[in-house]
Amino acid sequence: MTKRFAFLQDFWAAILSIIYPRLCLACDAPLGKAENHLCLPCQADLPETSFHLTPCNNTFVERFYRRVPIQSAAAYYWFAQQSRIQQIIHQIKYHNQPDAATEIGRMYGYALSRTKPFSEADYLIPVPMHPQKEHARGYNQATVFAQGLSESMNIPLITNNLYKTKMTQSQTKMSKQQRLENTEGVFALRHPMALRGKKIIIADDVMTSGATLESCCKAILAELPDAEIHLVTIAFTEH
Ligand SMILES: [Zn+2]
Repeated sequence: MTKRFAFLQDFWAAILSIIYPRLCLACDAPLGKAENHLCLPCQADLPETSFHLTPCNNTFVERFYRRVPIQSAAAYYWFAQQSRIQQIIHQIKYHNQPDAATEIGRMYGYALSRTKPFSEADYLIPVPMHPQKEHARGYNQATVFAQGLSESMNIPLITNNLYKTKMTQSQTKMSKQQRLENTEGVFALRHPMALRGKKIIIADDVMTSGATLESCCKAILAELPDAEIHLVTIAFTEH
C-alpha cells in the first residue's frame, strides 16, 4: 500500500468515525481502532460461564435431565436482565449486528476447539428460524453465531437440514409451559440419513427455558435415536 493511499484511508476512517462512531455493543463506549464490536474492558470483564471446562456436568446439562438426552452443553456468558449481555443480545437480534454474533462465535469457538467433546463434533446446526421471519430480519442470529464457531472450530455448518415447519409466536413473555407448547413439533429434518452416526452441535443465541433447543433435539432424535447431541449458546439464563 502506498503511503498516500494509507493516509487517505486513515483520513476517511477518521471522518467516518466522527459521523458514525463505532460503539461497544455492551456499554456504548467509543471503540478504538483495534477493537471490534466490544471494547477491551468489556471483553475482559463480561461474565463467562466456563461451562466448556466441565462440558458434561454443568448447570446447562442439568437443565436437560429427564427432558432429552444430550451429551454436553456450553454457553459463553451468563444472561441477566438489564445486563451488558442482554444489551449485546438485543443489538444482535434487533439492531442489524450479525457480524457481532459471528465475532462472538469465533471467540468462543477458539475455546471450544480446545475442548472435547465439542472439538470432535462432525457438524454445527443452528436453531432454524421460519424463512419469513429470517427474511424480515435479514439473517438468523443463531446461524451467524454458528458461522463464527464453524470458522474457528473448523467444523462444517449445516443450514439446509433441520428446519422450522411453522411460524411460532415470540416467546419473550411466555411461561415455561407455554414455551413448551409453542415449540412442540415445530422442527423437522429434511435429510435425516445425512446425519446418521454423526456428532452434532446445535447452536442458538440464548438458552432461557430450553424449550426451543429441546424441540430441535426431539426432531433429530425422532429420526436418529442414537444421535450424539451437544448444545452451544452465546448466553445462558440462570433461574
Ligand atoms: Zn464495552
